[in-house]
Amino acid sequence: MSEQLNAFEMAQKQFDAVAKQLGLDAGVAEVLRWPMREYSFRIPVRMDDGTLRVFQGFRVQHNDARGPNKGGIRFAANETMDTVRALATWMTWKCAVADIPLGGGKGGIIVDPSTLSDREKEEMCRGWVRNMWKNIGPRNDVPAPDVGTTPQMMGWMMDEYSKLVGQFTPGVFTGKPLGGGGSLGRTEATGYGVIYTVREAMKHLGIDPKKSVAAIEGFGNVAQYASIGFIEMLGGKVACVSCWDRHEKKAFTYSHKDGVDPRFLLTIVDQYGTIDKVKAEKAGYVIEDGDKWIEKDCNVLIPAAIEGHVNGDTVKKMSKNVKIVAEGANGPCTPEADEYFKANNIFDIPDFLCNAGGVTCSYFEQVQNDMNFYWSKEEVLERLDQKMTAAFRGVLDMATEKKVYMRDAAYMVAISRVVKAMELRGWLTGGF
Ligand code: GLU
Repeated sequence: MSEQLNAFEMAQKQFDAVAKQLGLDAGVAEVLRWPMREYSFRIPVRMDDGTLRVFQGFRVQHNDARGPNKGGIRFAANETMDTVRALATWMTWKCAVADIPLGGGKGGIIVDPSTLSDREKEEMCRGWVRNMWKNIGPRNDVPAPDVGTTPQMMGWMMDEYSKLVGQFTPGVFTGKPLGGGGSLGRTEATGYGVIYTVREAMKHLGIDPKKSVAAIEGFGNVAQYASIGFIEMLGGKVACVSCWDRHEKKAFTYSHKDGVDPRFLLTIVDQYGTIDKVKAEKAGYVIEDGDKWIEKDCNVLIPAAIEGHVNGDTVKKMSKNVKIVAEGANGPCTPEADEYFKANNIFDIPDFLCNAGGVTCSYFEQVQNDMNFYWSKEEVLERLDQKMTAAFRGVLDMATEKKVYMRDAAYMVAISRVVKAMELRGWLTGGF
């Protein structure tokens, strides 16, 4: 990689550039370039073999001026305090750009969840809550799933919290399973949200969705529903998806001469996003190296895996026909990739706008939990489309008015809203 990627430095770099353009007061910028609160703790878990192992847990609360902190918990072997800080910061901007009344948080545990039994996973989830329960809650900080965590885990965590506070409290975690306080549409929400923004970008650029081809990185929750949405909602074709093979500890790209059929792939993917190679090959899929996805001929590129994969090196391998990059993942494109997009007139839909569908639906889930009245899937998805479309237009209007790149415009919208909330609460005169 030509750039050393530290996600938090990247988040600060992006913020600093826009703070400068906005002429933001240096003190106010200092408040926003760091999280307000950070928790780092140890979680002992009795393993199935009888040994006691200790895992490192995190929660970062970046800014809650607009409402309770909100954001997922990641279980990942390479988790660090800095990745959690970056992701918490992006959550503040994401909730602000989506105009939902929430702040930014993120959590994690350093662990590869595929190495754990169900019982060990449950112990770990409950241990995370026992460390954090006094500092989370529906009016304080509301975690959700992210990379490596699942609705079932949110169900266990909500149960642990409810037991500790002595009250059934479904609104403390979102992304819960259906029937356990979850919302219809939450599974599809992030991927479909990506597609709503792609649809709006195509309208703006005058691109025919039916003649469009997408190359997608990943086949986790976001990529799964983005690929389904690209085909079923837009009428386009998906050239490839990719996935991390947890057995071979390596990524692979899956393509098919007639285009990928994500509904078929959903039947042969495991809960960690690893696609069954034998079954895929039998169905005519070509399986290549994990980096190949970025080279496929397409006009829409959807990186929907993890941070930093579209960088100074890989961006040059991208098809020359790419017109839109839709960032399904958090932080998939580095500042060097941004420079390439700007120089080549590629329309970027930045992560915290593009993938805001998940947290927007989480907000709907919380509203339904609070009302104790649940909506139909159609109602959820219709409201989601409205929110995502309004968020996209707000950012596009800012980009057009100020003649700036979409990521900078998204930052301008988000930072202005957060600063306004801080001002209105008196934080910039009296402190918080
Ligand atoms: N983890 C998702 C994200 O990065 C969803 C967060 C949430 O629903 O709170 O946006």
